[in-house]
Order: sequence, then C-alpha cells, then structure tokens
Amino acid sequence: MRESQFNAFARTAFAFALLALAIPLAGCGGGAMSVPITRDAFIPNFASETDPQTSLPNKLYHWRQFPVRVYISPTNSTPAMLSGVLVGLDWWERATDKVGSFVQVSDPASADIAIAFRDEGANGFSGRTAYSYDSGSALVNARISFNLNYLGDPSTIGPAAAHEMGHALGIGGHSNDHADLMSFSPGIFLLTSPSLRDVNTIKCGYAGLFGRAALAPASSGPIKSATIRCPSSIHP
Ligand SMILES: [Zn+2]
Repeated sequence: MRESQFNAFARTAFAFALLALAIPLAGCGGGAMSVPITRDAFIPNFASETDPQTSLPNKLYHWRQFPVRVYISPTNSTPAMLSGVLVGLDWWERATDKVGSFVQVSDPASADIAIAFRDEGANGFSGRTAYSYDSGSALVNARISFNLNYLGDPSTIGPAAAHEMGHALGIGGHSNDHADLMSFSPGIFLLTSPSLRDVNTIKCGYAGLFGRAALAPASSGPIKSATIRCPSSIHP
C-alpha cells in the first residue's frame, strides 16, 4: 500500500470510528440497561436475538467486580474433568482481557459461582446455569451443573464449561448462529474459543469496562432468579 493510499484508508477508518462514537443507542438490546451504550461499538452481537431454546428475548447481566469467586465441587469428578473446567472457565478472560477473571475458593458458601457434576440422565441437556440478579441486572450468584450423562468424555468438559461460564458471566440466552459458543447447538463442543459475536455480546453487558459507559449503580430492588438449560454433547 502506497503512503497516499494508506493515508486515505486511515482517514476513512477514523471517520467511521467517529461516526460510531456519534451514534448513541439505547443499549445492546435485551437487557435492562439504564445507561446509554454505543451499540455500534460491539457489532456483530446476538444481544437482541431471541433465544432459540426458550423463544424468549436474550437478556444481559453483569458482575459488579472481578475476580469472581468460583467453587468447583470435587464430587463425581476426576482430575481430568476438573482441569477441563478450569480451561473452559478461562476462555472468556483470554478473549476479552477483562471479563471472567476468577479465583477458586474451597468454601462453597463464599462462592459467587458454584459448579457441580451430576448425572441427570438423558434429559437432552449437558448443562444448566441458575442465577440470581438484582433489579439493575447485577448478578448475585450463579450455580452451574454439568450433566455427566453427556460429558463422560473429558474433552467435552472445556467447551461445556466455557458455554456455562458465558451464562454465569451474564449472557442470559443463546445465539442463533451455530458457530457461536453461546449457541444452542452440539457444535459448541468443537470450538476452542468464543466467537467475535460471543465476545461482542458479553462486551454489551460490560460496556463500562470497555470505555463506553458506566455500569448501572447498585440496586436495592428485589432479587430474581432464572435457569438456562443447554445443549447435550455430540457424544450421546
Ligand atoms: Zn446455554
């Protein structure tokens, strides 16, 4: 690229950047945002899509602080499964450099996110995440349960853990694109990282961490709860 072409390209890119900053929209969609966020900063995303599993609009939540405290129950697990969980939990922080840092704790009572392995039979779901949140969409706690009926192969644990961690970090719903980690698809077990759409969607929920807006102030409203159920493995 000649210098004159580069300068023209740079000016165009800068103009687009200014344009994006100049278009404030009312959040990334789906979440109860109380602060303006520049949606165009995080495109493509699936924040405004309808969850194909529940037919409900996706929602976004957030933790108020990191690292989150994670307890992983040793019951029903092997060292390979435990290490697989840790690999999967790390996908988000590696992809965003900000969201998802965690510390392991030995006391489940002190955990923000608790993880357990159970054999729940052939119910079609490899995992589920139950979470509670306040009226400002701030997460209070999350509980991840892996269904051992589908996760006997330790190689499936990492992607399953990354998917459930996506819910536990605030993605309240699923993507409609099977290439996304947060899709409701067994294809997630073939992935090794979140997609651009996954990363942009979680950035929508943590806009304040990415220089676009402040997170909503703490809320004293009622605590609500929800549970998300997730696709079974490609190894039934
Ligand atoms: Zn899911």
